[in-house]
This record gives sequence, structure tokens and C-alpha cells, in this order.
Amino acid sequence: MLREDNIPIKDYFNIWFNREKRKEFYTTSISLYKTTFYHDKSNRFLNILFNDSKNDKEIYFSSATLLEPFEESYGTFLIKFLNANFASFKTFYRTFFCFYGFSILCEFYASIPSLKFFKTEDEFIETYQPIFNKVKPKLKKLQYLIKQCVDYMYNLNNNSIDKNYTPLEKYLSYSIFNNLFKYSTNIEVYYYQQFAHDIYHIASQSITPKIVREHLENGIINIGDSPIFHTSYLSNILYISLFEIASNTSIRIKVCKNCGKYFIPLRNTEKYCDIVYCENEVTCKMIGANNSYSKKRNTIEGIKFYRNNYQRRLMQVKRSNDEEIRIAFENWKKLAKEKIKEFNNNKISEEELLEWIKEN
Ligand SMILES: [Zn+2]
Repeated sequence: MLREDNIPIKDYFNIWFNREKRKEFYTTSISLYKTTFYHDKSNRFLNILFNDSKNDKEIYFSSATLLEPFEESYGTFLIKFLNANFASFKTFYRTFFCFYGFSILCEFYASIPSLKFFKTEDEFIETYQPIFNKVKPKLKKLQYLIKQCVDYMYNLNNNSIDKNYTPLEKYLSYSIFNNLFKYSTNIEVYYYQQFAHDIYHIASQSITPKIVREHLENGIINIGDSPIFHTSYLSNILYISLFEIASNTSIRIKVCKNCGKYFIPLRNTEKYCDIVYCENEVTCKMIGANNSYSKKRNTIEGIKFYRNNYQRRLMQVKRSNDEEIRIAFENWKKLAKEKIKEFNNNKISEEELLEWIKEN
């Protein structure tokens, strides 16, 4: 028999990871205040996005389950906490708690109200804002502690101490010195995960290697997933997340060159983050790609030459009424654009482009 699903969900938080697929899954209970569920093409399950324009009069709530968890890219919980803005209840909600729910604050505030239906927006805010105000100093302290650790591990934000040691070595030394282990006392670990996504599709009496192969391919059986970590303490979830990242030597945390947020690059050469909180948000990666593209264009001799010539020839056309000059200009413009396109697609070199523009 496959193991039964008896991991508590309501008012608890469960998280697990898949290093190979660079994914992170979690279950929590959240209020549906200014949130939307989003299905990214590369995800199997939904993720949560903030939606400021959503104007629900009444506020419902929802929980993810082990069979239908929320899915995020690897390390998102830690990254979102590092970047969370605790300036006001509004920023606190939109940068962190709309994704993870309030129940994970129970270590700082004894009587977090159980999730319920709110008749109005004001009722919702009046319930949680005072709690936020109370726990804010503790959240900031915790964020500072984790930030210091990450800055030290990856030598970020002008921290260049112990540069010759690995992130893991520095993480362990920081953890021992600051006794981060005190944040690991409320975690239960469940070895259940391989079938967590779809146990009902696996009939134990008729299982064959052929069926196992199919399920390995379609992801119903996934031996790449970590155990499920079960806790309701924010600090303990952070402890798990930080340990997961620190012990994974194939990834690193960087600071985005555009917005200054922490992020986990897909490739080591990446400078810009792709962090989004809302639907259709333009990422720094998109902005960065455009900027470096136009910057690159301005330094290409052939393109500079083309632009100068373009202005000069356009003036000529405007000054004369000669139809032939205009046609010659249009033809030249068309051919030059094609050549630049070839250059952009790496079909011809920078030198070849310049040569052609000069010759024509
Ligand atoms: Zn950024």
C-alpha cells in the first residue's frame, strides 16, 4: 500500500524542493485579498500573484493541498523574504504575506486568527494590520540576520570578508556563531514526497516496471523531490530554505544590478533578476536586455556610420525634388536594414557590416 496522506495542512506550512528541476513546492492557507492564481507555462501547478486592481467586496480564503501545491522557482521563499518590504502593512502584504499566509507568524504572535471569510476589505485590514505592527520589529531583526548571512556567504553588498572560502563553509560558520540552529526546533520531516503529486494514479496491485517508467516520465513518481518539511514557524521555514540553498553548491545568490534585489540566476553570467509580484510585470531581465542591446548598438561602427549617412541622405532627398534620388535612397535604406538584420542575427560580422555600409 502507498502511504496515506496524513500530513496536516490547515494553519500549517509544508515545503519541499526539487534541485534538479529547480523547483520549490509549498502548501499554505491564504486570504484571497488582492491575489490571483497564475499558471506559468513551465509550471505543473499554480503560483500566487499580487493583484492591486482586484476589487473584491468580500474576502474568501483558500488552501493548497499536497496533491495541488503552489509551485515556485527554487529558492523563492528565501529570496522573497530577503527582499520583503516591511515598511507598512501594505508593502508587507504585497511583497511577502499574500504569497505565504499569516499563520507562519504564530511564533511571534500567540493568537493569529484562523482563516475566515471577511465581509469587507476594512475588516480584513483591521484584523491583520495590528498584528503586523506588533511583529514588525521581530520580522526586521530576522530579515537582518538572514541578510547578513547571505551577504557574507556570497560576498554581496560590499561584504568581502573571507572571500577565499566557499558559501557553504561561510554559512556553517555563521550558523554556528549565531546559533541559527535554534530555528530548527519546530520542523517535522515527512518521507512521503515521491508520490505526493498523484497517489491515486498508482494502483499497487497492478503496478509493473512499464507503468513505473510512464510515471517517472510524466512526473507522477518523482524521486528528485526532497522530503516534505512541515512547520508553522517562519524562522524555521527560513532555516530550511537557507540550508537547502547553502548546501546546493551548483547555485548562488546575487544582487540585481538594476533593482538591488536578491535573486538566484539561472546562469552565472546573469546580472538582472526576473522577480515579479504581479501579473504582466516587466522584469529587470527584460529592461536589462533592452538597455544592453541599445548600448551595444551605439558602439557598433557600422550602425553609427549608417545612422550618420541616413541623416545626410534624407536631407538630400528633402532638398531635391528628384524622384530618382528618392528611389535610390529608399533602396539603399532597405538594403542597409537587411544588412543590419543579418548582423543582429550573427550572419555577418561587425567588420563585414561596416565594409558594406562604407561601400554603399
Ligand atoms: Zn531586479
